[in-house]
Amino acid sequence: MKNDKALVVFSGGQDSTTCLFWALNNFKEVETVTFDYNQRHKLEIDVAQTISDELNVKNTVLDMSLLNQLAPSALTRNDIDIKESDGEPPSTFVEGRNLLFLSFASILAKQIGAKHIVTGVCETDFSGYPDCRDVFVKSLNVSLNLSMDHQFVIHTPLMWLDKAETWALADELEAFEFVRNKTLTCYNGIISDGCGECPACILRRRGLETYLQR
Ligand SMILES: [Zn+2]
Repeated sequence: MKNDKALVVFSGGQDSTTCLFWALNNFKEVETVTFDYNQRHKLEIDVAQTISDELNVKNTVLDMSLLNQLAPSALTRNDIDIKESDGEPPSTFVEGRNLLFLSFASILAKQIGAKHIVTGVCETDFSGYPDCRDVFVKSLNVSLNLSMDHQFVIHTPLMWLDKAETWALADELEAFEFVRNKTLTCYNGIISDGCGECPACILRRRGLETYLQR
């Protein structure tokens, strides 16, 4: 792997930034791809670009605004509130989003000569996204290889980690401060520790507190 190139699916959040550091540790060459789907906060794109620049990684932004047309959810429309109820996907759910992201990422990966695709999807904090499950990613990996007659390897370093373990991984990669201070997870568009009140901030903070107490 050390001599290969990898493409990281990158949003500038805690998870994908940890994945970016993981990729920089494991591959000779790394690029990132960020999807612009008219997110609630355009800031996400800027943060992804800024972090990529800072780590000397080439970032490609792909226009996925068609998702806005397909999925009127809280992530893409400013007039819908973010709600979460037990047993149901949060209202930020965009059906098939990860399927599309990984498919588009693989087309770009082949073009730039990257055999490896890295994504921060995670089954542990499974919030109802069926296309974030390990079995789906493995199945898609086979389909992508067949569709493009190419031997991609999709890596999911966070698949079996909880949020505290993701902080531990960032720390192992000597990226704890970087991830804590420079990433954007908050639904309200506040970098680092965020607004502290939205579901993303609460999940992130719980993981951080658990990790710091260990
Ligand atoms: Zn927040």
